Amino acid sequence: MTARILAGKDFAAQIKEEAKKQAEAIKEQYGVTPGLAVVIVGSDPASQVYVRNKHKACEALGIYSEVIVLPEDTTKEALLAQIDALNSSRKIHGILVQLPLPAALGSAEAEILDRIDPKKDVDGFHPVNVGRLVTGQPALVPCTPAGCIRMLELAAIPMDGAHAVIIGRSNIVGKPMMNLLLQKNATVTVCHSHTKNLAEITRTADILVAAVGRPRFVTADMVKPGAAVIDVGINRIAPKQLVGDVDFTAVQEVAGAITPVPGGVGLLTIAMLMQNTITAALMQLA
Ligand code: NAD
Repeated sequence: MTARILAGKDFAAQIKEEAKKQAEAIKEQYGVTPGLAVVIVGSDPASQVYVRNKHKACEALGIYSEVIVLPEDTTKEALLAQIDALNSSRKIHGILVQLPLPAALGSAEAEILDRIDPKKDVDGFHPVNVGRLVTGQPALVPCTPAGCIRMLELAAIPMDGAHAVIIGRSNIVGKPMMNLLLQKNATVTVCHSHTKNLAEITRTADILVAAVGRPRFVTADMVKPGAAVIDVGINRIAPKQLVGDVDFTAVQEVAGAITPVPGGVGLLTIAMLMQNTITAALMQLA
């Protein structure tokens, strides 16, 4: 069997098209342009590329975008003051602080992210949004797992009653993915670095989500024939070579559907950020 390749660009295009239409509808109904602010501290080259891509995506969809670049030696107080200003700005409906923060601010990361108004928290990291997601209330949900779910929906991969196995329990991917799959009525198993007999568990998965951060960690013998394999991992193994957490070449011979890296889940993350900005604007305008 050779798996169906789930190309991120096709799904991302659909999500962005929907977001563009919603942005137009908001302008028409409320006379307001949805706005996203991205705050970047320091000059990490990878972060600068991500931020540029986010800005371009906003422009293409008719979303107002502000990029605020702060120097590497910005103090916690100055960053909090910047967030306060964005919290009260009427032009801004979504706020994202680009991670990682410089080392000097790293220990204050939770305090900084918690300062964002939960209604503008388009990364979905604020404890209020985490709690709302867990309890099944309307919430802003982290973009990467939200994108995975949207892709499963658009690809018509059944989640109801499926056994979904997630490798990884981070706050950014694994845990929100668990809650989103539960909401879709999947039976969910979360594996992590202390899990025993990992391959035995993953072989029972109808949907296997890899969010480990280890190159080609998931091998063909860990996958049930016909399973949908969602590879969230992004691992740079050479200056110009990215690979996922899944051994794509071998696993595509076993799986029923698989996301490539690059060109898979990564493209959905920005699309979902656009969608979250629209959702945030609607929450604030309603
Ligand atoms: P993380 O380091 O916070 O978490 C990794 C998880 O993997 C942990 O929960 C850990 O318990 C588990 N793990 C580690 N070794 C393991 C092992 N041997 N067996 C089983 N589990 C093990 O990482 P993260 O932030 O969740 O990111 C995971 C990957 O996804 C990374 O490659 C990251 O770059 C990528 N990522 C991609 C996007 C995207 O837009 N596509 C977004 C976020 C993260």
